[in-house]
Amino acid sequence: MSHQWITVLGATGSIGVSTLDVVGRHPDRYRVFALTGHSRMDVLLNQCITHDPLYAVVSEAGQCARLQEQLLQAGCQTRVLHGAEALAEVSSDQRVDAVMAAIVGAAGLSPTLAAVRAGKRVLLANKEALVMSGALFMQAVRDSGARLLPIDSEHNAIFQCMPGNYANGLQQVGVRRILLTASGGPFRETALEDLARVTPAQACAHPNWSMGQKISVDSASMMNKGLELIEACWLFDARPDQVEVVVHPQSVVHSLVDYVDGSVLAQLGNPDMRTPIAHALAWPERIDSGVSALDLLLTARLDFQAPDPLRFPCLGLARQAFESGGTACAILNAANEVAVQAFLDRRIGFTDIPVMIEHALNSLSPEPVRELAQVMLADRQARDCAEQWLANQA
Ligand code: NAD
Ligand code: MG
Repeated sequence: MSHQWITVLGATGSIGVSTLDVVGRHPDRYRVFALTGHSRMDVLLNQCITHDPLYAVVSEAGQCARLQEQLLQAGCQTRVLHGAEALAEVSSDQRVDAVMAAIVGAAGLSPTLAAVRAGKRVLLANKEALVMSGALFMQAVRDSGARLLPIDSEHNAIFQCMPGNYANGLQQVGVRRILLTASGGPFRETALEDLARVTPAQACAHPNWSMGQKISVDSASMMNKGLELIEACWLFDARPDQVEVVVHPQSVVHSLVDYVDGSVLAQLGNPDMRTPIAHALAWPERIDSGVSALDLLLTARLDFQAPDPLRFPCLGLARQAFESGGTACAILNAANEVAVQAFLDRRIGFTDIPVMIEHALNSLSPEPVRELAQVMLADRQARDCAEQWLANQA
């Protein structure tokens, strides 16, 4: 079998590193076409030396020149490019077979869409891209014939539990509902009055998963589950009332699909993103991911609880935004990105995150979406609105 060329967008992040770990286990199957990174240039340098990609893409010209120089000194042939256009090029190049979309946040939308439009196998970790532009994104997938494979562990689990013809409609294939599991994050048991004082370090200390800062804060606020609810609706063409969120603290059951005959199919495994990454890379085949076998006796217990809407209002805000439609989810996502950064910078408290998002959702009215420019405008306006809220607090 000839090898496949892979581009990893966001190679220096948590998902990027896990992806290269899996890819590196299968040199006969995969070769790295391009790696991209926005910071942690030392990590990108070492990744280039190890994986010898044809291209590396960074954000700025200065980073580009420095990295190119270091790579030449190390005897590495990788060509370094920079900027948004280069990101789109390495995502859509004719030679590329698959693109791992693992840039965090709205910054990942354009290169991910470029990969979709070029009809690639797209391994989607960047949920924000889909949340922002859901209808356009899914239309682009249908138009180009791109193969979209979810990396988010829950959506990857749902995909594994769905029948092959689920695109015919959930009702048609006998699916009653999707059960989306949530770990509950580090504050699952924290009292409402204590949430206002939690620190970024506490929010980033996830009990089961090791992840980038933004998704860690999203997990703590349960906005991550809100974004994932929206993601599930787009990926599986589900109505929000067909998706039920269940808190499952062990993170062993990654999600479930409930069928009309009463069967419930679940995907289980150790909480390690290399499993969904390996699944999506090789699908429909299976390859070793480096993840150890699940020990059920060691797991011993699987607990399930209902989410608490009072302590975690972000989940309800996401549901509400999806139901509003149009640009509402782009507004939700942008305001959340600003709020999370402000929390990490200690400019606001943890419980201000939903307040800021709700402010943006109430201040801007959602517009119908016909083109990407409208999504980008809503993103800009929501960021401005959230920044204004911050300025008013100071
Ligand atoms: P991370 O912060 O560890 O890595 C983010 C990557 O994006 C880095 O390579 C960074 O350099 C790059 N990046 C950041 N800003 C950029 C910009 N403006 N332009 C170009 N590149 C930029 O994040 P992560 O935890 O790896 O998450 C990546 C994506 O995958 C997120 O959308 C997240 O929601 C999703 N995801 C992550 C996990 C996980 O376990 N980490 C699980 C499910 C989904
Ligand atoms: Mg997830």
